[in-house]
Amino acid sequence: MEEKIIKLGNRVLKDKLEYQGMRNKLIKEIKNKGIKDQNVLNAMSAIPRHFFLPAGLEHFAYLDKPFDIGEGQTISQPYTVAFQTELLEVKPKIKILEIGTGSGYQAAVLSNMGAEVFTVERIEKLYLKAKELLNALGYNNVHCFLGDGYEGLEQYSPFDRIIITAAIDEIPEKIKRQLAIGGILVAPINNQSGIQIMHKIIRIDETNFNVEYHGSFSFVPMLPGIKKE
Ligand code: SAH
Repeated sequence: MEEKIIKLGNRVLKDKLEYQGMRNKLIKEIKNKGIKDQNVLNAMSAIPRHFFLPAGLEHFAYLDKPFDIGEGQTISQPYTVAFQTELLEVKPKIKILEIGTGSGYQAAVLSNMGAEVFTVERIEKLYLKAKELLNALGYNNVHCFLGDGYEGLEQYSPFDRIIITAAIDEIPEKIKRQLAIGGILVAPINNQSGIQIMHKIIRIDETNFNVEYHGSFSFVPMLPGIKKE
């Protein structure tokens, strides 16, 4: 296996064999927890998650845990990324809207699976950082936007898939309309007790949606508006 090296500002990122070994162990762990989609496991085996963590935290990248990425936000737990991606039924060439770019790791996974990814982040600092990293890694099929995810990205709709990676109270009509007929939306939605339930919503036709529930999770909340410096 080769060791990928990229330069990002004054930081040199290396995908050492040691990290590749830790990553293989993590993928086995996720598989044991129930992830079956081999395409998801292959994508996560290929992506150096430690590149997406702040400097100094690289060694924690291959624990199945969420981590702080600054600005009070987190990179999702690897199992959660795998779970949402599996529910999304990703196929090459499809168009995906991601709401909540965060570190950019989830977008990298979707991109690695061959999808065209449109990802929106409300915090400028995180948007800039993720965009720079994804560019440096050569993910040309990821398009990063600074914006309020509650609006979606109407000009690029309809999307075959929509993934929301922050907890939301309900899916706005505006977002539902941006999902293609036959498309799938995956999101953690707060119930009345404040528990986040993973939803898989399939758009049957113009007005009908089929809803499935897939257990409880823990995400940072979806917040309105854009946050600049
Ligand atoms: N997918 C990310 C996980 C990010 S955590 C990853 O792979 O690292 C959720 C992210 O959603 C945070 O960065 C937060 O700032 C962002 N977010 C919250 N509300 C938002 C909104 N209204 N529009 C866009 N992004 C939002």
